[in-house]
Amino acid sequence: MRAKPRIFASKCLGFANCRWDGATVNDRFVERLGKYVDYITCCPEMEIGLGCPRDPIRVVLKEGNRALFQPNTGKDFSKEMLAYRSKQFLALKKEKLSGFILKSRSPSCGIKDVKLFNGTKETSGHTGGSAGFFGEGVVKEFAPLAIEDEGRLTNFPIRENFLAKIFTHAEFLAVKNAGTARALSDFQAKNKYLLLAYNEKEMRLMGSLAANLKKRPVKEVNEEYGGHLLLAFAKQLSFKPVINVLTHALGYFKEQLVKEEKKFFLESMEKYRAGKLPLSAVTGLLQMWIVKYKVDYLKEQTFFSPFPEELVDLGDSGKGR
Ligand code: SF4
Repeated sequence: MRAKPRIFASKCLGFANCRWDGATVNDRFVERLGKYVDYITCCPEMEIGLGCPRDPIRVVLKEGNRALFQPNTGKDFSKEMLAYRSKQFLALKKEKLSGFILKSRSPSCGIKDVKLFNGTKETSGHTGGSAGFFGEGVVKEFAPLAIEDEGRLTNFPIRENFLAKIFTHAEFLAVKNAGTARALSDFQAKNKYLLLAYNEKEMRLMGSLAANLKKRPVKEVNEEYGGHLLLAFAKQLSFKPVINVLTHALGYFKEQLVKEEKKFFLESMEKYRAGKLPLSAVTGLLQMWIVKYKVDYLKEQTFFSPFPEELVDLGDSGKGR
């Protein structure tokens, strides 16, 4: 059974009617993910006492600094939000989180693409590219954990990266909890291909740590290993190492597959490289052959199923933004 990641989510993403206008945002992915993760939610604007419904707030430039401002009342909520987020982050650090899903473009929860108004007047113009007051703090405090907004998660590659990160991280937390050298070496062995696809350098370093040839205390090794695990997932998957792993795995079937099957696989890999097919569609082919030809070594590899397959939603375009 997979370990359940603990995920922080903006409360308005279907958990409560707490948006400024009293609405909620029903997000299909956030809802479906709920079956496989434990959510911790909050609404920073409600927590600082803004109430609901409320006059909208904005990120504005005020005397040369960014401020969280409510044009209708002329009130500046920057201090309240910064104080709240410090308190909340301390509490969240004890929660052993594996990731965050924040509301996109919100002046509080947004991590990017938040409007930055060039003044405090209702009519002030704006540019894009800023971050919300809470979301910006999340990135500073919790990266390189998986941190995304619901808008970006409509994009297949971003969503698959996010899911791989949170489920691998949650599994590692269970390994840490077990506290044995065997649990760590098993974890390293079954995640070898996945780590190879993300970051070969880190994978090799983590391999040495898991081997623990110097017989260091397990707790100490786990701490160091966990840091490298986050570094390994810090960057999104890129095509070249993934194609290498796929090609390597295909090699296990060179005797069994007929020419047409190999051709179809190579074409699927090309479509993945061109961004026309999600990775899961290509690994799905390999999984079928793993089962058919009973390749136990590959069967154990999380690369082929780093998260529950029910979360691969083929019902949307996956183009996202
Ligand atoms: S974006 Fe954040 S602050 Fe705004 S309503 Fe949603 S949870 Fe609350």
